[in-house]
Amino acid sequence: MVGGGVIGCAIAERLSLDGHHVTLLERDQLGGRASGAAAGELSPQSTTSRADEAGLRSLELFPELIARIEKDSGMNVEYRVQQGLQPALSEEEVAHLRSTGGTWLDAQACREAEPSLSTEILGAVLLEHAHLTPPRFVRALARAASLRGAAIHEGTPVMGFDIAGGEVRRVITPAGSYEADWAVIAAGPWSKEVASAAGVEVDVRPQRGQLAALDPGPVVLRRSIFWSNGYLVPKGDGTVIAGGTEEESGFDDRPTVSGIAALLNLACRLVPDLGAANLQRAWAGLRPVTRDGRPIVDVVGPPNLIVATGHHRKGILLAPLAAKKVASIISGSK
Ligand SMILES: Cc1cc2nc3c(=O)[nH]c(=O)nc-3n(C[C@H](O)[C@H](O)[C@H](O)COP(=O)(O)OP(=O)(O)OC[C@H]3O[C@@H](n4cnc5c(N)ncnc54)[C@H](O)[C@@H]3O)c2cc1C
Repeated sequence: MVGGGVIGCAIAERLSLDGHHVTLLERDQLGGRASGAAAGELSPQSTTSRADEAGLRSLELFPELIARIEKDSGMNVEYRVQQGLQPALSEEEVAHLRSTGGTWLDAQACREAEPSLSTEILGAVLLEHAHLTPPRFVRALARAASLRGAAIHEGTPVMGFDIAGGEVRRVITPAGSYEADWAVIAAGPWSKEVASAAGVEVDVRPQRGQLAALDPGPVVLRRSIFWSNGYLVPKGDGTVIAGGTEEESGFDDRPTVSGIAALLNLACRLVPDLGAANLQRAWAGLRPVTRDGRPIVDVVGPPNLIVATGHHRKGILLAPLAAKKVASIISGSK
């Protein structure tokens, strides 16, 4: 397994459950990239408010997965099922959201549900979704895998592959090489570079997303609010997370003044009293995104090389489904 983000750790957890001998090689730290930066929304809805089928299927896998890894790892990943609102700020948005068939709250019902919402909001669709804390989730997946015998090596970059007879035989790192019946590349936006070392072309690139954590003071927000590409997420620790920009920045994952300013403006537009909130922290991560926007979870090139990447804005949500697919590819090969 190459990469210790949420995709690599979910696959390691699943394969170790199936009795495979797993070695996970992470260049830096587990969850040190997008997977640790993410907001933790498990929301199958797209920006058009229609639920995505893969997202729904993956969401269904969470209760069993969370119960298993929390029991096995002894960690709490702060998973909870909750409601969110997707508001309309124009008559066009009202017409569009009402056509999606979800439960519609008019302006008055919105403000009864969330009194701090802007009077600009004309109504909202009620969303059912779930939420967790991504760095804990990644660590719990890895810990559950390791307690079942998986070897997890941080600070271990994969430099290349030994390929013989058209198949991957060994995975090469500066600390030595590892024999492999199967190799899985789950290196986020770096998967292109890692796969090229196996002579395989993978069309994935980084897309920067920024987040800001706000201390809302007396402002009460109980539900996540999703509008356009942005969102406000109330966390269990009392903070509100404002996210998430979409920018082409190459591999630069530092937050910028204009990116954070856009998030703060969005927060004030949706919940005006957040203008008095304190800015606690700002950060960014690089989402892996493919040309057609769809994830790649498949055998690519050599028949024992799997690539699992390109989960864009939904990698935390889609990790259990990716792990299930990799497990079925490997078990189907026997
Ligand atoms: C701001 C932001 C908010 C987000 N919010 C959400 C959300 O609320 N819900 C949701 O579902 N998704 C969210 N996402 C998307 C989600 O974070 C990503 O889709 C997901 O984390 C991708 O996981 P990954 O494991 O593919 O990649 P990564 O997390 O990037 O992990 C890849 C790992 O591979 C390692 N690596 C790279 N090269 C090598 C090498 N040569 N050898 C060994 N290891 C290597 C890297 O160090 C890294 O740790 C968000 C993303 C961002 C940026």
